[in-house]
Amino acid sequence: MARKIGSRYTAHQILGRGSAGTVWLGEGPEGPVAIKLLREDLASDQDLVGRFVQERTALLSLDHPNVVGVRDLVVDGNDLALVMDLVRGTDVRTRLERERRLAPEAAVAIAADVADGLAAAHAAGIVHRDVKPENVLLDMQGPLGPGGSHPALLTDFGVAKLVDSPRRTRATKVIGTPDYLAPEIIEGLPPRAAVDIYALATVLYELLAGFTPFGGGHPGAVLRRHVTETVVPLPGIPDELWQLIVQCLAKAPASRLRASEMAARLREQLPLLAGMPPLDVDEPYDPDAAPAGDTYEDEHSDAYDQPNPGAPRRGAVPLVPGGATDSNRDTHTSMRVPGPDELAGGARGTARAPRAAGAPRPGSARHKAAADARRRRLTLGAAAVALVAAVGVGSWLATSGDDADATPQDNNGGNPTAPVSP
Ligand code: ADP
Ligand code: MG
Repeated sequence: MARKIGSRYTAHQILGRGSAGTVWLGEGPEGPVAIKLLREDLASDQDLVGRFVQERTALLSLDHPNVVGVRDLVVDGNDLALVMDLVRGTDVRTRLERERRLAPEAAVAIAADVADGLAAAHAAGIVHRDVKPENVLLDMQGPLGPGGSHPALLTDFGVAKLVDSPRRTRATKVIGTPDYLAPEIIEGLPPRAAVDIYALATVLYELLAGFTPFGGGHPGAVLRRHVTETVVPLPGIPDELWQLIVQCLAKAPASRLRASEMAARLREQLPLLAGMPPLDVDEPYDPDAAPAGDTYEDEHSDAYDQPNPGAPRRGAVPLVPGGATDSNRDTHTSMRVPGPDELAGGARGTARAPRAAGAPRPGSARHKAAADARRRRLTLGAAAVALVAAVGVGSWLATSGDDADATPQDNNGGNPTAPVSP
C-alpha cells in the first residue's frame, strides 16, 4: 500500500498513529525516512498550512543529535507532511509502561539528552511546548549510554503550536494532558523556553517515580496543583538530584535552570547514580480507582482532609470525582461563575484571587461570621481556580496563534535570554 507524498517521497507502512496524524515508514532520495502525515482536517486548514510553511526554516535548521531532524515539509494537494529522520526504537512512554519506573542513572541519562536537545532548540529561538514521554524517542540503534540507555531524541518540534491553533482547539476541545503544563502557561503568559524545562523536570520525576508530580484526577485539579502545590519529595532520591528537580519545577520561570545548565548538572550526577536500583516509591492514590460513593460524597465530605485513610496521596484531591457524571451538585460544570466575594473567600486555596472591594478582610468580624461557610467557599475557591486555569489555557491558546506571525525578536520583548518560537 505504497503511497506517494509529494514528488520525492513514498510512504510504505504505518509506524504509528498520533494525535496530529499518522507516521509512516517511507523512502526518500536519501534513504529511509519517517513521514508524519497530518490529519486531513489539519491539512485542509489554510491558516494552519500557512503557518506550517512559515515554520519551515526554523524546523529544518534544527540539527542536533538529540533532536529528531525534520528533513522536509511537504505541502501537496490535500497532503501536509513532515519528513523526519527515521528513529528505529521506541518512545519513552512505551518504556515507562513496560518498566513502570527507571533506575535513576537511566532516567537522568535520558533527561540529560533531552536537555541537550532543548538547549540547541532554545538557542535557535524555538520552544518545544510539548515535552512529554511520548515525544522522546529512544534510538535502539544508537550506542548504549549510562545505565544501559539508548540515545534519547526529542521529536514533534513545532507540532504542538501548529495543532493548537485557537480556532481548532475551541472547536475540538483537545488540550493535551495537563500533567506537563508549566504554571505560567496556566496563568496565561506566553510560553517561553522555561516551560520546556518545567515539562522536562516533570518527565524526569515521572521516570523516577512512575507518576507525574501533579497529575491525577480531574484536569482542573491538575492545573490547580501546578499553580498552588509544591512537589512531594521522592523517598530515597539523592539530595542533589532532588534539588535539581525542585529548582526546575519552580513556579517562577526565571528560577528554573536553563537547558544547557540542566544538562550539565544532570551529567555531573551520573557517576554517583551508577548501579542504583529504581526508587521504592508507593503508588499514588488514584481517585479514579476509588469505589463509587466511597469518598467525595459532596462538597461537605471530608475529602479535603482525608481522601482515603491509609492510601498514599497524590497531590490534592480532585475537584470532581473522576469519571462521575455531572449531577446537580456544585461541580465545575454545573456551577455558576463565582462572584468576586466568593473568590476572595476562597483565596486561602487560590493564593492569587484578588480580594474584592467590600469583601471581608481576613480576621475581621464579618470574616469570622463567615467561618461556618468556609468549607463551602474553599470548595468554590478551588473550583474557581479551575475556571481561571481554563480561561488561562484558553487565552494562551488564543495568543499562540499570534506569535506565529511575529518574528522571534518581537516575541522576546527585547530579552535575549528568553527565546520563543518564531
Ligand atoms: P503525535 O505526536 O501526533 O501524537 P507521534 O509523534 O507520537 O504522534 O507519532 C506516532 C507514532 O509514530 C509513535 O508511536 C512514534 O513512536 C512513531 N514515530 C514518530 N516519529 C517517528 C520517527 N521519527 N521515527 C520512527 N517512529 C516515529
Ligand atoms: Mg508526538
